[in-house]
Amino acid sequence: MLQEKALRHAAAGVPGEGKRPHAARPFLFISDLHLSEAIPRTVAAFEHFIRVTADQADSVFILGDLFEYWIGDDMLADPFVARMTALMHTLSERGIALYIMHGNRDFLMGKRFMKAAGAIWLPDPIAITAFGTRIALAHGDGLCTEDRGYQVFRKFARNTLAQWLFLAWPFRWRRALAENMRKKSEQGRERPVSPRYDVTPRGVAALFRRSRAGTIIHGHTHRPARHQEPGGVRWVLPDWDLDHGKPRGGYLRVDAEGFRMMPHG
Ligand code: MN
Repeated sequence: MLQEKALRHAAAGVPGEGKRPHAARPFLFISDLHLSEAIPRTVAAFEHFIRVTADQADSVFILGDLFEYWIGDDMLADPFVARMTALMHTLSERGIALYIMHGNRDFLMGKRFMKAAGAIWLPDPIAITAFGTRIALAHGDGLCTEDRGYQVFRKFARNTLAQWLFLAWPFRWRRALAENMRKKSEQGRERPVSPRYDVTPRGVAALFRRSRAGTIIHGHTHRPARHQEPGGVRWVLPDWDLDHGKPRGGYLRVDAEGFRMMPHG
């Protein structure tokens, strides 16, 4: 239901090409930065991306999991969060549009955050038109249809009443819960990832069909690739981590010449 609504919103042409003064400039897509103070090199790479890499862009799209966790817009009082938010706000000041989609970790980012970052919130999924190509955008967790337990949690977590109850908790309770969940996922970092946690052909085919797009861009799985699917082309964005092991990161650049996966920096 929500997906249909989101796509109808997209069909109205928000966002689209030709609406901005420099529409020939590229659209840049990133996701899964998982920003926190614990990963200073990754934070530095993101700062470089916003200040330098994005400078020639028309629009920047962040397709979810920008932050390691988001437990409410009262996080804006945190100096690190305030610094990241002010940095992102420089994009709109430079005439570069910033679109942010929720991920599975930061889906509580609200209106106050979007305003502080100078960002426009994007529903998941949504279809946009870039350089004549219709593209479906998603974080990717909604496409992992085999992970039934997670899909039940996802539905619950997006419930307005559940969110309202959680946000009514004292800040320190919310932070304790988030830190606890983060520790658990950190312990799982080295484990081989089961196919159960990847997107499924069923989920992907459904998005191609519903969006009427020939291209999908998503993140979440941390398996960057370009896949030729029965319904079209599926680009998977990389996660960013320059603090553990081999540095990872990068972005997808879309312009009149096509689609190109670019390394960070
Ligand atoms: Mn994710």
